[in-house]
Amino acid sequence: MTLHLLALAGDGIGPEITRATCDLVRAACDASDVEVSISEAEIGFDALERYGTTIPEDVIARAKAADGVILGPVSHNAYPPISEGGLNPSGVLRKALNLHANIRPARSHPAVATPTGQAVDMVIVRENLEGFYADRNMEHGPAEFMPVPGVALSMRRITEANSRAIAETGYALAMRRTAKRVAVIHKANVLRQSDGLFLDTVRDVAKGFPEIETEEVLIDAAAALFVRDPSRFDVVIATNMYGDILSDLASELAGGLGLAASLNHGTGHAVAQAQHGSAPDLAGQDIANPASLIGSAAMLLDHLGHPAAARLIQAALDAALSRSETRTPDLRGTARTSEMTAAILSHISDGP
Ligand code: ATP
Ligand code: MG
Repeated sequence: MTLHLLALAGDGIGPEITRATCDLVRAACDASDVEVSISEAEIGFDALERYGTTIPEDVIARAKAADGVILGPVSHNAYPPISEGGLNPSGVLRKALNLHANIRPARSHPAVATPTGQAVDMVIVRENLEGFYADRNMEHGPAEFMPVPGVALSMRRITEANSRAIAETGYALAMRRTAKRVAVIHKANVLRQSDGLFLDTVRDVAKGFPEIETEEVLIDAAAALFVRDPSRFDVVIATNMYGDILSDLASELAGGLGLAASLNHGTGHAVAQAQHGSAPDLAGQDIANPASLIGSAAMLLDHLGHPAAARLIQAALDAALSRSETRTPDLRGTARTSEMTAAILSHISDGP
């Protein structure tokens, strides 16, 4: 059975790192006897110019029909208003494909320096559909409004259903890891109802996983502890915005955004997506680090039931990262994007 993937190149450095990623996915699938077909579609500024929207309906339909999506970064902060076609493709896909979980590993590489000199190996499991980002699914009106001039209110939606789904995803992931520890991030001492519901729901799910050691950590304390002792953290379960902020912190502590992979998934669909944005400052120069999206694609292949192909990519990526000649300048390397990609490709051809 052929694996059907859809690649969406996006903006900025998107086309460069997406091309690199697709080449490596094809090579790894070839080498592990997985038949793969990758089709492409335009999103972002290219789609806006041609179709008047940054994410055409047809692309959403094709994403739904595919087994998985490789999503390049988009410059949604620079898009025109929604009324002029400037939707955030990433947000639209999360909702359309019901991707409740955003899995964000932060793993340092022995050859790449980290800011504090400490090794990092944690996975942030971020709720992906609600919290402060719930303007996409508030049925009762806009999530932000000004009741009177000079006062703005913002609503944050937490549901038992999504809290349970993200907790179950997080605990299932923890079961597959060696450390078997979960940290639940919250601020239930202040946000008693919303974070209280989240925390109570996670506690309930935790009862089903007696093998896992659970720690409840306040968001502010978590930020300090990430820097002081990242080895304390294994799987970190968080609501949407806390997870977003903590994962930037964790990826920086692990060696930089260029390494930061992620997978969005629900029960039926999955999307590989780098944690960073479109880095317009680096676009078109062949110097962006493709590791983030390559690592994301490896997560996607693993999620779709092709662990051998995933391991092949990850091992080849780790090998390239270990030498400064085959990694990009953001990691104090000297390779161009294309050179790093070629090095990974040759490691894949060498086999595991
Ligand atoms: P956007 O508005 O799309 O989020 P941005 O300018 O905020 O774009 P980010 O992608 O969020 O850019 O990243 C911030 C900075 O981190 C970039 O300007 C870039 O210097 C660096 N960076 C991010 N991703 C990479 C990468 N893959 N390789 C090298 N450097 C990167
Ligand atoms: Mg950004």
